[in-house]
Amino acid sequence: MSETMSETPPSLDRSALDRSAAARPLPKPGILDITPYRPGKSTAVGIAHPVKLSGNENILGASPRARDAYVEAAGQLNIYPDGRGGVLRDAIARRYDLEPERLVLGCGTDEILHLINQTFLEPGDNIVQGQYAFGAYGIGARACQADVRSAPEPHHRIDVDLLLEQVDARTRLVFITNPANPTGTFTTETELRRLQAALPPSVVLVVDAAYSEFCTDPTFTDGLDLARTAENVIVTHTFSKIHGLAALRVGWAYAPAPLADAIDRIRPPFNVSIPALCAAVAALADEDFQALSLAHVEQWRPWLAQQLGGLGLPATPSAANFVLVRFPSTAGRTAAEAEAFLAARGLIVRGVSNYGLPDHIRITIGLEEHNRAIVEALADFMAR
Ligand code: PMP
Repeated sequence: MSETMSETPPSLDRSALDRSAAARPLPKPGILDITPYRPGKSTAVGIAHPVKLSGNENILGASPRARDAYVEAAGQLNIYPDGRGGVLRDAIARRYDLEPERLVLGCGTDEILHLINQTFLEPGDNIVQGQYAFGAYGIGARACQADVRSAPEPHHRIDVDLLLEQVDARTRLVFITNPANPTGTFTTETELRRLQAALPPSVVLVVDAAYSEFCTDPTFTDGLDLARTAENVIVTHTFSKIHGLAALRVGWAYAPAPLADAIDRIRPPFNVSIPALCAAVAALADEDFQALSLAHVEQWRPWLAQQLGGLGLPATPSAANFVLVRFPSTAGRTAAEAEAFLAARGLIVRGVSNYGLPDHIRITIGLEEHNRAIVEALADFMAR
């Protein structure tokens, strides 16, 4: 070590010195305090082909046109993708009437959320979210040594005033999921605009619209209209839900030009593969498949909620492709026991105790036979 290096630079704090003196490499402070994201299960012990209703995927599969495009892209496996994702960028811009250069494409919304956190958060900053917020926001923020401030969600709904109470001088990002996962509730356009108007202009409002295509309520917005003009609103969308392309990992964000420019500087240059780009372009054009997917959810979501309600299992009103169901806390009838009971019948659902909802399970809307099997199994469970 050189003489100058042996002096403590003012920027090296105590923990950095401790890490330098450690006998083995240590992750930076905070990393080991992060609880990893737990995806919905996909296996059930002793069941060869279980039905997966734990990941909010599209139960109808993917658009046949997207599959064809994916297969056709196999001819280009040896070349790097266009780093701009030009074909998809232009297709999204045309479809939603957006400015192409304000789009950021990502390896799923997941990557974009990480990029947003990395772009705006430094140690000691914070993000603000609802108490049942999607886990990825907090993981990305903590990885930047930022704090996570969560506002209560009475009746599983975002309350704009309670969110605003959490905002302070170190808040850089406010996350809203619309409709929300795992609750399924949505924030109205009026409320979203009120939130944006009340935030300091230095704070970015991120609207995660992963499930927006499943909500047709006239008071709903995915936030894109607000994002067209506001200087601090970023909206994210995904191809994993209504388009049924979760395996391919494609998401996008629409941001004010200076923010898109900043995020794009740290985006891995080839983060969306050629097969993913081609399939996403085809999926976007397949409006029949999108309409079919929406119609399926609109048919079975109310049916499932009503049937489960009849069993004494109330569902939170959902605007997404899943329902959140409450179980009694009495032994023998709990959500954890219901999850195991369903798994034994080959029906995999999502326990959400990690979201602070130990009495609930989240069930993705399935095919007719899946939904009927769920209701039948839970009727048996409640009658035990
Ligand atoms: N946001 C929410 C609210 C989600 O539920 C999910 C997927 N579970 C994502 C983002 C991630 O989407 P993607 O597959 O595009 O990474």
